[in-house]
Amino acid sequence: MPDYVIAPPPQAAVAVAGTDALFPVRRVYCVGRNYAEHAREMGADPTREDPFFFSKPADALVACAPGQNGVSPYPPGSKSVHHEMELVVAIGKGGADIPAERALEHVFGYAPGLDLTRRDLQGEAKKKGQPWEMGKGFDKSAPIGRIVPAAEIGHPAKGTISLKVNGETRQKSDLSQMIWNVPETIAFLSRLVALAPGDLIFTGTPEGVAAVVKGDRLEGHIDGVGDLQVTIG
Ligand code: MN
Repeated sequence: MPDYVIAPPPQAAVAVAGTDALFPVRRVYCVGRNYAEHAREMGADPTREDPFFFSKPADALVACAPGQNGVSPYPPGSKSVHHEMELVVAIGKGGADIPAERALEHVFGYAPGLDLTRRDLQGEAKKKGQPWEMGKGFDKSAPIGRIVPAAEIGHPAKGTISLKVNGETRQKSDLSQMIWNVPETIAFLSRLVALAPGDLIFTGTPEGVAAVVKGDRLEGHIDGVGDLQVTIG
């Protein structure tokens, strides 16, 4: 082991259903505009252009499985923080140039996740042609539930994805509505970066994104995958 000049940061990790062992997280990738109705509500053309990606830091993850009492503090610098409920893919086996037909062999499991977004900062960045980074990759911007192994549930390609805020349904769609499905997304991303075990991919949100306020209680659900619960602190 090398000596470090400061203490090394803790390993980001996510709980796994059915075990006390954790899934160690390396990088967090996110897909933009992957549901047609969400692309439309954002004023974009939902064509099948190549998917595009952005990142969040691994330590933006917040443990938000039921019982974990997850809290995401309302972030500084924004007056419009939006929820984006998403299916998260956990990569268990790395690779570059992965063909879509083999992509699911690289998946360890799936989790429900939220891509919290400072929509005002993202909008300003879009207008100026600047990076989205500060609209997306802020502290505690990635609440996530437990990862369920694909060995147990298979690979969900359809099923309800939904989000309630204070008990009221805000987002409700179906995984089958993704523009780029999970194998296609993995294939595209692995042509741009070599994927490695521990990488997560947030696969985009359906329509119904809206602002949250302090004290809001968010409950996400994906059929066959699980739930997440987070309070905006
Ligand atoms: Mn998103």
